[in-house]
Amino acid sequence: MIDNKIKEKYADITLQNGVNLQRNQSLFITAPIEGADFARILAKKAYELGAKNVHINWEDDELTRLKYEHAAEEVMETFPEWRVKLQESFAEEGAAFVSIHATDPDLLNGIDSTRIAKASKAAGVALKVFREYIMNDRVTWTVISIPTKAWAQKVFPEKNSEEAVASLWNEIIKTVRVDQEDPVKAWENHNDTLRKAHEKLNEKQYEKLILKAPGTHLEVGLPAGHIWQGGTAVSQKGINFNPNLPTEEVFTVPHKYKVNGKVTSTKPLNYGGTLIDEFQLTFKDGIVTDYEAKQGEEVLKHLLETDEGSSRLGEIALVPDESPISQSGLIFYNTLFDENASCHIALGKAYPTNLEGGADMDEKELDQHGVNDSMVHVDFMIGSAQMDIDGVKPDGTKEAVFRHGTWAFDLS
Ligand code: ZN
Ligand code: ZN
Repeated sequence: MIDNKIKEKYADITLQNGVNLQRNQSLFITAPIEGADFARILAKKAYELGAKNVHINWEDDELTRLKYEHAAEEVMETFPEWRVKLQESFAEEGAAFVSIHATDPDLLNGIDSTRIAKASKAAGVALKVFREYIMNDRVTWTVISIPTKAWAQKVFPEKNSEEAVASLWNEIIKTVRVDQEDPVKAWENHNDTLRKAHEKLNEKQYEKLILKAPGTHLEVGLPAGHIWQGGTAVSQKGINFNPNLPTEEVFTVPHKYKVNGKVTSTKPLNYGGTLIDEFQLTFKDGIVTDYEAKQGEEVLKHLLETDEGSSRLGEIALVPDESPISQSGLIFYNTLFDENASCHIALGKAYPTNLEGGADMDEKELDQHGVNDSMVHVDFMIGSAQMDIDGVKPDGTKEAVFRHGTWAFDLS
């Protein structure tokens, strides 16, 4: 079993590098109830760092499943006001937010996809204001994971439950650099590398990217004034933080009206407890005009039909195939890990912070600049060692950005 010292180190980097918790700041943790011991370590460490108040928002996969199986239709169509108020009130006082993602990839197997669509839509509508706090970096936030039995078993089906959990802990510890002598320092170095990559792309200001791989030929227009980010983000109060642990990506905003061609997924997508796998999307002028999936096509359909923006793109992210997560060769069935092993794009809302001045623009201005809005933001993986990417400059000249799944630039 993983020892407590390692968990404490993981808690340290979550609070210091992840949300960069300040003295007298409150902390809102969303945690699976199965990971109560780790959530409590986080809480204890947070108080030691001078946190004002720590609130844990428990999530229970089993209860969620029971609700989807038995609750009345009207329950699936509503999201409780008190839950909205709870999250908004913490955001208003400037709390930091840690979300621990560990949903069983098969949690909602066999549940009517219409019910799932209704529930996610209700949550999406209700959490609009809260979402703006996160996506505009008005607060500091980070997403991490810890193993749960069901999830670990999915990643390591040949192992027994206890071994699977131990193996998944090991993998997580490696990817978040907690196995290193000085994890905080290791994160500073890693953030530097990511900074070099996004600074290079920001200099280039490509008008569009052309992605080619088996089953993929996609042209992704980039709005004028787009900003590549990666590694450390800066909150509106000027606090540095790492929104994802692990993170290996540099990402920006695609132009919502200028995406054309076809794209094929390269890893399964765990969309809130149902898997969508081996799927293809065709885009015309930014919108999905055709799609198919070997698994989960019905769920994909509901996702695309969530609202006007859910069939347009809100993110394009580049991740070299030699990323440590990719080299592990594992499929995690958890987007936090799989997206950091692979170039990916996201359906739905874009981060306004990926556009110059975007965080201060209203919905109409963002639309005019080509920045997508939606109540969903769903990343899916399209990268592989076979992906080539070209950047097209405003004068029409092309240059290599990625070859065989990795940087064609020198980033040293
Ligand atoms: Zn991403
Ligand atoms: Zn994303």
